[in-house]
Order: sequence, then C-alpha cells, then structure tokens
Amino acid sequence: MSWPKEYGGRAANPFEQVIYLSELARVRAPETVGVIGLNMAGPTIIVHGTEEQKNRYLSKILSGEEIWCQGFSEPGAGSDLAGVTTRVIRDGDEYVVTGQKVWSSHAQVADYCILVTRSDPQSSRHAGLTYLIVDMHSPGVEVRPIVQITGDPEFNEIFLDEVRVPASNILGSEGDGWRVAMTTLMHERGTLGVALQVRSQLILEDLVKLAQNTTVNGERMIDRAAVRDALAGFDIEVEAMRLTGYRSISNFARTGVPGPEGSVLKLHWSEFNQRLTEFAWELLGPYSQVDGGSAHSIQDGKWQYEFLRSRGNTIEAGTSEVLRNIIAERVLGLPRSR
Ligand SMILES: Cc1cc2nc3c(=O)[nH]c(=O)nc-3n(C[C@H](O)[C@H](O)[C@H](O)COP(=O)(O)OP(=O)(O)OC[C@H]3O[C@@H](n4cnc5c(N)ncnc54)[C@H](O)[C@@H]3O)c2cc1C
Repeated sequence: MSWPKEYGGRAANPFEQVIYLSELARVRAPETVGVIGLNMAGPTIIVHGTEEQKNRYLSKILSGEEIWCQGFSEPGAGSDLAGVTTRVIRDGDEYVVTGQKVWSSHAQVADYCILVTRSDPQSSRHAGLTYLIVDMHSPGVEVRPIVQITGDPEFNEIFLDEVRVPASNILGSEGDGWRVAMTTLMHERGTLGVALQVRSQLILEDLVKLAQNTTVNGERMIDRAAVRDALAGFDIEVEAMRLTGYRSISNFARTGVPGPEGSVLKLHWSEFNQRLTEFAWELLGPYSQVDGGSAHSIQDGKWQYEFLRSRGNTIEAGTSEVLRNIIAERVLGLPRSR
C-alpha cells in the first residue's frame, strides 16, 4: 500500500501500511509467497532502481505475477555478508555470474532473484560488491531444495554457472552493492515487525484456548497457577512488542528509512516465539511431538510444526548474536565489537 501510485501502490503512509498488515494477520490470512518481492526486492528497487526497472518490476510484484527470492547467503558468507565470493565479470552488455548461494527461501518457485556478487576479485569485504537482478529462468541457474526439520522444502541452494545477466539489471552501480544490500536488510527487519507481533498475539490466544481445553488428571491446565503465570508473562511480552513496533514505525514515518531498532523487534519476536512454542510442548506433553495426520496428533500437529519452524527464527534475517551486536553498536551506541 505504501508504494508510489505510479507503480501500482496507493502512496499510503507507514501507519496505514501497518494497519493493513495487522488486519491481514488478525484475520489469519495466509502469509504471501511474494514476501521477498514485497518486503525486500520492491523497496530496494524503489530506492535504487532506474525508472525503467521500476516500471518493469514493481507492478508485477504487487499483482503476485512474479515471485522473488533473495540470493545473499553463501556457504562461506552468512552473518558475514561481506564475505560473498559469487563472481561476476562484465562481458559487453552483459554480466556473467558464477557461484553458489544457499538458504534462499522460495527460490524453487521464484522468477527473479536479488543477488549480491563480487565484481572486483582484488577487493575484499564491503568494497567491490555488485547487486544484480537475476532472471531465475536463465540458462545456468540450478535450484536444489533443502528440506527443513519441519519437512517443508522452504529454502534452497542456488548454483549459478556462467549465467548471463543483462548489464541493465544492475541495481545501483558496479562496486556499490553493499550500500544497496543494506537497504534490503533494513527492510527485511523493519517492515515485517508489526505483522509478526499480531501473529504472536494470535498464537498466544491459541495457546490460552489450549490451556483452557487441556485437562490432566481431572485438572484444567489453565487452573494451574504456574501456567497462568507463564501465559500472563507472554501476554506482557506481546504488548511490549506492539509498542516497540509502533516506535520503530514512527521513526520510519519521520525519516523514510527503516532504522536499526527493527533489530530489537526481530530479536525479541524470534526468541519469544521459541519460548512460547516450547511452553506449548510442556503443556501438551509428548503428544505435541506427533506428526500431523496421525490419530494421536494434537490439532493436526500444529504445535509440533510451530515448535520446529521457530528454531530457524533466531537464524533467518540476522542471528540473535548479530542482532545483539547491531543493537549494542547502533541503538545503544556502545563501542564496536571488532
Ligand atoms: C528459515 C531461513 C530462511 C532463510 N532465507 C534466506 C534467504 O531467503 N536468502 C538468504 O540469502 N539467506 C537466507 N537465510 C540465511 C540466513 O540469512 C543465514 O543463515 C544467517 O545470516 C546466518 O548465516 P550462517 O547460517 O552462514 O551462519 P554463520 O554466519 O556462520 O553463523 C554461525 C554462528 O556464529 C554466530 N556469529 C556469526 N558472526 C558473529 C559475530 N560477529 N558475533 C557473534 N556471533 C557471530 C552466529 O550468530 C551463529 O550462531 C535463511 C535462513 C533461515 C534459517
């Protein structure tokens, strides 16, 4: 909703965008497969793209006609994105890309990838990186799904073997990829936060219902003081997340760029979600671990899935350790860790 009208958006302000996302979460709308296009690729193209790129890509992200994935992480470069080694060489009007990416969510269904590459082989760290838009249907792109502990193949390896990319598909300029990538990462941690908070509220409501309906030795779980105490603690945390989200979005409305405080919400939410799903397992006992589809599973394996999926929360979009470093240095102004 907040994208410019000329590219299919409604020029809504960040607060309207947040209300919209919150309401989607509240009616339990399924999460969109276009999440990377909407929250990362699109906002990055709006900031760094040429007019031609904006006209070509943005409206099809909004309509859901084209799905995007994010090719940042590599086997040797995750938290340390500046260690990217996927090589790109300019050849006339094209770039030729060779390398490997990993953990790319939705790459198995994606049409385009936002790809961070190394264009200057002599460079190291943040210099010499180039940010490209790559057509996932190009010859030389091979996607191999990786099955997660949930059983879902949600993310993938991407192998790039001399993939030819039109030079016009560069975002920003050659060697300036780090700056462009930072825009993407800020949006990854910033925009989604408020919707995550609403989702946490809903999963907590589900947990409260579960405690009301689960009886052990004739006693309802909700009647146990320790259970009520834990649920009240979770409720307070959800409220704290809501207010942190509002602070972050107010800052975004003032400055136009998502700030480092998005990291606070992401860190809190991911660790909260793990504690909450762990508590659900404690409440339900061993049956909580049974796969959906089994006669013995509870709510068709919902809590098993939620618990297993939550393990990745503290890794994706920045690990907890890395986020703590960002908060220490950029929010609290503490000395740099290295
Ligand atoms: C569900 C899921 C989806 C993902 N989707 C995508 C995607 O679509 N696209 C994409 O590009 N990537 C994606 N990722 C990858 C994710 O961004 C990386 O896994 C993450 O950045 C961590 O990198 P790594 O796995 O290489 O671990 P490493 O960076 O090797 O970290 C290993 C450990 O060392 C710690 N560590 C590293 N550096 C520091 C430091 N400076 N200080 C303290 N501790 C440190 C980490 O916290 C971690 O515990 C996804 C990951 C998951 C789990």
